[in-house]
Amino acid sequence: MTDLVYIMGHGYSGSTLLTFLLGSHPRIATIGELGIAPRGKTPTPQEYFCSCQTPILECDFWQRVTRGMEERGQPFDIWDSDLDFRHNGGGLSDIVLRAVQRGPALETIRSAALQVLPAASREMRRILARIEALVETVLGIQGRGVFLDSSKRPERAVFMSRVPSFRMKVIHLVRDGRAVSWSSMKNLGIGPEEAARSWVADNQGSEHARRYFDPERWLTLRYEDLCAHPDETLTGVYDFIGVPAKNGIHDFRNFEHHIIGNRMRLASTSEIRLDERWKEALTREQMGIIERHVTPLNRKYGYGRL
Ligand SMILES: [Zn+2]
Repeated sequence: MTDLVYIMGHGYSGSTLLTFLLGSHPRIATIGELGIAPRGKTPTPQEYFCSCQTPILECDFWQRVTRGMEERGQPFDIWDSDLDFRHNGGGLSDIVLRAVQRGPALETIRSAALQVLPAASREMRRILARIEALVETVLGIQGRGVFLDSSKRPERAVFMSRVPSFRMKVIHLVRDGRAVSWSSMKNLGIGPEEAARSWVADNQGSEHARRYFDPERWLTLRYEDLCAHPDETLTGVYDFIGVPAKNGIHDFRNFEHHIIGNRMRLASTSEIRLDERWKEALTREQMGIIERHVTPLNRKYGYGRL
């Protein structure tokens, strides 16, 4: 059995920071987001840097991963890692595999559809086998016992829970819906309504995914708590994962890591600081629109009025 920890949550909830922190633990291996290929983020592989500050194709670690995957009969190219659940033929199979977790009925419909769509079901098994090979390869190279996947999407975690050799635990990372909406507006150039809806949809997706995991395999973690009390919060997370507590890994930039993900992977600082600019930056009107959408779920996670 392989112990696998999955970080689930909205894109602007602090998952990169948590990935770096947990990946600095001597028992935890990670490469960041499994589902995200660098292609599409930069035009050429030469311009995409691994978090070790080397162009991705020149990174020693990724070359070892490529060889390890080949030995397992899984040709691998980091530039086009072929780890996404989609069906190249398109059509219904593609829709079934890519549909995101939006309601409790979806997985039931998906299971039924997979039985009548052999191509989709084959594709699902093929990608899961690749993920399994990659996890084994990375654990072998890094010599660690727990694999951390920070892919974030709820439906991916549900798919991966079907791999018999995976013993999965989920960290649902949440952050105040108003803060995340502001980040989305700023980074994606979208309006408050769309930003707030995306936060609600993602967290509802996570809440639906929760039914596929035993309660002791699920941890809801607030990003604000991680920033306010890093040691204490991490001790709780290590306990949940089942690895011994380890202090003083705040200088995570000093540890060797090869992480794929957002731009923060290349930053040089390991300062943990909560960004609260949204409190000043959002206009009254924007705040009103956002709160109309996020308040019920925000309350559930313990976020109150300003
Ligand atoms: Zn690297």
